[in-house]
Amino acid sequence: MNKFGRKQSRKNAFIKKITLFLFFMTLTINAQIDKIEPPFWYAGMHNPSLQIMFYGKDIAKYEVSVSNETKIVDIKKTENPNYIFVTIDTKNTPVTDLLFSFKNKNKIVFNRKYSIKQRRENSAQRKSFDASDMLYLIMPDRFANGNPSNDSNKATVEKHNRDLPGGRHGGDIQGIINNLDYISSLGATAIWSTPLCEDNDAAYSYHTYAQSDVYKIDPRYGTNEDYVRLASEMHKKDLKLIMDYVTNHWGIEHWMMKDLPTKDWIHQFENFTQTNHKRSTISDTNASKIDTQICLDGWFVSSMPDLNQANPLVLNYLKQNAIWWIEYADLDGFRVDTYNYSDPKGIAEWTKAVTDEYPNFNIVGEIWMHNQAQMAYWQKDSKIGAIQNYNSNLPSVMDFTLHDALETVFNEDDGTWDKGMTKIYDNFANDFLYPNPDNILVFAENHDTSRFNELYNNDIKKYQMAMALLATVRGIPQLYYGTEIGMRGEKNKGDADIRQDFPGGWIGDESNAFLKEGRTEGQNQYYDFTSKLFNWRKTNEAVHFGKMTHYIPENNVYVYFRYTNSKTVMVVMNNSNDNHTIKTNRFQENIKTHKTGKDILTEASYDLSNEITIAGKSVLILELQ
Ligand code: CA
Repeated sequence: MNKFGRKQSRKNAFIKKITLFLFFMTLTINAQIDKIEPPFWYAGMHNPSLQIMFYGKDIAKYEVSVSNETKIVDIKKTENPNYIFVTIDTKNTPVTDLLFSFKNKNKIVFNRKYSIKQRRENSAQRKSFDASDMLYLIMPDRFANGNPSNDSNKATVEKHNRDLPGGRHGGDIQGIINNLDYISSLGATAIWSTPLCEDNDAAYSYHTYAQSDVYKIDPRYGTNEDYVRLASEMHKKDLKLIMDYVTNHWGIEHWMMKDLPTKDWIHQFENFTQTNHKRSTISDTNASKIDTQICLDGWFVSSMPDLNQANPLVLNYLKQNAIWWIEYADLDGFRVDTYNYSDPKGIAEWTKAVTDEYPNFNIVGEIWMHNQAQMAYWQKDSKIGAIQNYNSNLPSVMDFTLHDALETVFNEDDGTWDKGMTKIYDNFANDFLYPNPDNILVFAENHDTSRFNELYNNDIKKYQMAMALLATVRGIPQLYYGTEIGMRGEKNKGDADIRQDFPGGWIGDESNAFLKEGRTEGQNQYYDFTSKLFNWRKTNEAVHFGKMTHYIPENNVYVYFRYTNSKTVMVVMNNSNDNHTIKTNRFQENIKTHKTGKDILTEASYDLSNEITIAGKSVLILELQ
């Protein structure tokens, strides 16, 4: 090799070194993007505008551009240089991998790939849940442990401890998948699971309402892929998956809390300020401003920072996160936690954004009020809301006044004045307030209340009356896991008491109530009744969307009808301790020319021509013939 050749070779080596150095520099710089959210998106969405959040050390100092024909329509930087919010117009973006370039002085410093994926067929027109469904509510940590190997995880602080009532017991997504046939056998057609995204609190994380990463399933429940598999396995069995979405707050361990994009991402106070829980202040014309403000902006508890949905960046983040989960996991509905603790304007926009993307998508909000006018205020197109120019856009609310009544009525044997069945009658007498009474969730209990079987000391007759009511009145019935085998639990003893492990969900459990032979005789009585009732309900459209006519209770006996043009169901509920005989001619406007009624519970036939006798504390569900 001559002198010139040696020089050339040294030069080549030098260039190689420089190239390698630059390549590793790029890698190093690249590594400073810690998060991109949403992590990917979909082509052909109704709203073409997509705001991508890039998070990384000093990311805001770069100029951003994007490949393809896609246009950047807005770039937002905040007071925190570690965030940049880039809005693109995806209207003409095909299924593709976009390339985002981050430049300094017009030189590309690093690139990032961003996938725009293919949507499922008819994704936008997906059906959702409605009054033809029955929801089974599960707390996944307490239902079934399908995968003991994920009970504890390196990435999350709280470890498995089944001996601790408020600890992590190990239930997971696989546990739900393993028991889909059991859930289906109850006549349930949908599952509402309490939240499954990561909650990295050091204690009490099992309830998972203090989420630390809303794009990631908690590893103690499984992976994002497991959640998608849950939806897919459910769909094979004609079951619908309803996600519990939390718009109001995240957990204090949320990664963003350690480096907030803006100070007003959450509501901050000089000292910890808790919400006063008085949601009536939102519509109360006599309310003081400070009360309303603390209701909306105060934190739910000290471990749950209150999100500021009035900040457009926050609101957009929540909208896109919700839509991402529907599209990614193929969801069939939302239950929204603490719905009316959120900024009223923001939450109405959030709800509209979701239903604009998915016009048939049902969303039931936790509207925990004790007065029908205040609940009706929050249902979409409410005339009561309109008095204050408010429309939440929320399709479905929860019948908490019915729940309140169900907690006591079956112990009110004499039923005089406003007692006993009159309370139930009065509840439905207020249905005129609701824009859509068929789209109201009806329930006897949930994961935040005392269990029904505790309140009524496992009196199965009272259980039968309550379940018969839920199965036949307007709205969407919801059952809380374990109630169908008589499980008890008292709110006053703490949340853990009402969220006990389902027997048989864990290897080595003393009994297995998922199986007939594993249940006690008493448990089978509960199970058999529940299963028979709700499986019948599946097939009778009169109790799904039929009209309702009810009659003033007499002697604590309540009679009502659900009917369509072709089918009529007559319900007779005797909440007194005595047998009663009712004259059928009072109900002529609904009985019409029908001659007999077949009780769907006992198969007994009742002659409707004169009178019907019904035993104390019992119910007849008659299909008129
Ligand atoms: Ca597990």
